[in-house]
Amino acid sequence: MKALVLKDFHEMVVAERPDPVAGRGEVLVRTVATGICGSDLHGFTGANGRRVPGQVMGHETAGRIAALGPDVTGLTVGGLATVNPVVSCGHCPSCTAGAEHHCPEKYVIGVAPAVSAAFAEYVVAPAGNVVALPDTMPAEYGALVEPIAVGAHAARRGAVTADDTVLVSGGGPIGQAVVLAARRLGVTRIVVSEPDPGRRALCATLGAEVVDPAGAPVPEQVRELLGGPASVAVDAVGLSATLADALAATSLGARIVLVGMAAPRVELAAFAVSTEERTLVGSFSYSAADFRSAAEWVAGTPPELAHLVERQVDLADAPAAFTALAEAPTPGKVLVRF
Ligand SMILES: [Zn+2]
Ligand SMILES: [Zn+2]
Repeated sequence: MKALVLKDFHEMVVAERPDPVAGRGEVLVRTVATGICGSDLHGFTGANGRRVPGQVMGHETAGRIAALGPDVTGLTVGGLATVNPVVSCGHCPSCTAGAEHHCPEKYVIGVAPAVSAAFAEYVVAPAGNVVALPDTMPAEYGALVEPIAVGAHAARRGAVTADDTVLVSGGGPIGQAVVLAARRLGVTRIVVSEPDPGRRALCATLGAEVVDPAGAPVPEQVRELLGGPASVAVDAVGLSATLADALAATSLGARIVLVGMAAPRVELAAFAVSTEERTLVGSFSYSAADFRSAAEWVAGTPPELAHLVERQVDLADAPAAFTALAEAPTPGKVLVRF
């Protein structure tokens, strides 16, 4: 099969790789489309240290089930599916409690260098990670389930309800997914702070109000728009500056969700947490239930999905797309077609 290989940092190539085979309890998926994630771009440049040269990346994918390994039931060859890339043991306390992403044996397809991944014509995954989608939907939307699940999990971590007003820092794919999740929960006032005009425009089409952090201090802009502070902030950037905005733009007792990972260390105003009783929670990936519920929502092909896809590129053009995106990320997702 053909695969997109990280030959070296800043160098992607299309190369031949052996076809993976579905073992016991596994499913072989013929890839249709795989999304390029910000983490793949950081892997491409070597910035995040979570990808190694020689590996195949790709964890946001949709495809058709090509073969079932022994002992797999409940899935149909030829059917459309997406793959939950977080593979866990299934029997430890975290897994049985529905926090599979906390499993000590967990690995992520497209991150772990030694396992089959989705920037390739075929990918193998445990059957429990393969989530069937209706054949009637545009197949490539299946590749949006993963980032949408990240946003949905962040909203759940922030205990967002319809009564909240929400500030989202960062209007990239994760910020966009948070906006969609908050809207699904019934939130009517969502402000996205984002410096890129293209991303601001995209978030506005998703139903958010948008501010440019370069225009005026974000907390001031939020208070002006909402008539007061927000009750929840989701930091989808993860810098000291965005965290400071989240604290200063929210009410006493507010919830702050840190999902962005732009910096390994941040500084924060301790009293904005202690004396003002804000709750600061982390959010990373999603549980299996979050993923399935995101897949269910995507399966209904809500019209917002069309806005999330910037463009689709053929495999042959994928190396150039990586180079271009590492220089200048686009507002929406770029998908690689297989
Ligand atoms: Zn991702
Ligand atoms: Zn486990």
